[in-house]
Amino acid sequence: MNLTSRDIHDALRTVKDPDLGKDLVTLNMVKDVRIDGASIVVGIELTTPACPMKETIRKDVEQAIHAKAAEIGAATPTVTVEYTARVRANASKNASNPLPNVKHVIAVGAGKGGVGKSSIAVNLAVGLARFGARVGLLDGDIYGPSTPTMLGLTELPGAIRGEMLVPFEVHGIRAITIGKLVDPEKALIWRGPMAHGAFKQLALQTEWGELDYLIVDLPPGTGDVPLTLAQLLPLTGAVVVCTPQRVAQDDARRAVRMFQQLGVAVLGVVENMSYFIADDGKTYDIFGRGGAEIMARTMDLPFLGAVPIHMELRRNSDEGTPLKNWSGNSTLASDLDNICQRVASQISISTIAGGLLQPTLSITD
Ligand code: ADP
Repeated sequence: MNLTSRDIHDALRTVKDPDLGKDLVTLNMVKDVRIDGASIVVGIELTTPACPMKETIRKDVEQAIHAKAAEIGAATPTVTVEYTARVRANASKNASNPLPNVKHVIAVGAGKGGVGKSSIAVNLAVGLARFGARVGLLDGDIYGPSTPTMLGLTELPGAIRGEMLVPFEVHGIRAITIGKLVDPEKALIWRGPMAHGAFKQLALQTEWGELDYLIVDLPPGTGDVPLTLAQLLPLTGAVVVCTPQRVAQDDARRAVRMFQQLGVAVLGVVENMSYFIADDGKTYDIFGRGGAEIMARTMDLPFLGAVPIHMELRRNSDEGTPLKNWSGNSTLASDLDNICQRVASQISISTIAGGLLQPTLSITD
């Protein structure tokens, strides 16, 4: 008695993607089954190259196929799982979407400045690209753009093709920032309509090409730009960055409420500057590690991970070399990867759940 392709599919129907909560066949993730005697290869298409569940899925697939073999009296086969990944677009994308080639727009916001919102946005973009996703970064912090420094763009010439801005191709991502279009030394004072116009131009008049994720670094607080973004583009969701101390949590709560009021799903909360790692490796709990996690839990939001205060991260930001965050001998790389994977998971979960409709603004006062 040998296992047939049908047996394998039956077995895979019992394997759930742990994040997405449905079985691999229903999710249309089984792309290939090859049987060669007692050797079976299963091709699984993940919903993101940053999937954190690869090893769990591989083990579950093997176990299910072994169980099926035992059930029908076949020899125990060797099982190999081959992964590919395709980010699925939001079902709610509609004909009026002005960026049809961008599968997910993700806003990164914070209740106030200085909590590391831009740092998280930059490292989220670069980190997702390291996993193999096609990523863009829109520096929408038009009042204080950080990406010229953080991505090392200051010496690079900007380019325009026809009416369109050509994004900078750096560190594996495509990036655009107002900081390269205006004098960086000048204070950027925008009145409401000007802020709206500047942001709209950056978002819509950039040659993004095909992107899996467009990360938007928003200005801190609850001003005009998030409103413009929510009106302009179908957002998959927002990530809120928060430091652990109580006063920061209160601001972050306001940011969460703002997104919710704009009809934008909050994908979760990142705790930045969670604690401090000194050069000798000792850790210091400066701001009350875990505060943002508690806040996330009390607001019924996913917690997307924590990054400690890390001298390397600050240095690499100042030097415009974000990829170095992954090459140092530290836990920084795994902390950042963890956040990227959790964000990617939440995006997939939201997409599969199909619960994300284009935000409809209902602002009453
Ligand atoms: P925001 O966008 O919220 O204003 P930034 O991302 O610009 O904050 O960060 C403010 C400063 O703090 C920058 O100099 C940045 O390099 C530094 N910083 C942010 N997060 C960390 C961290 N986890 N460890 C060390 N320095 C950090």
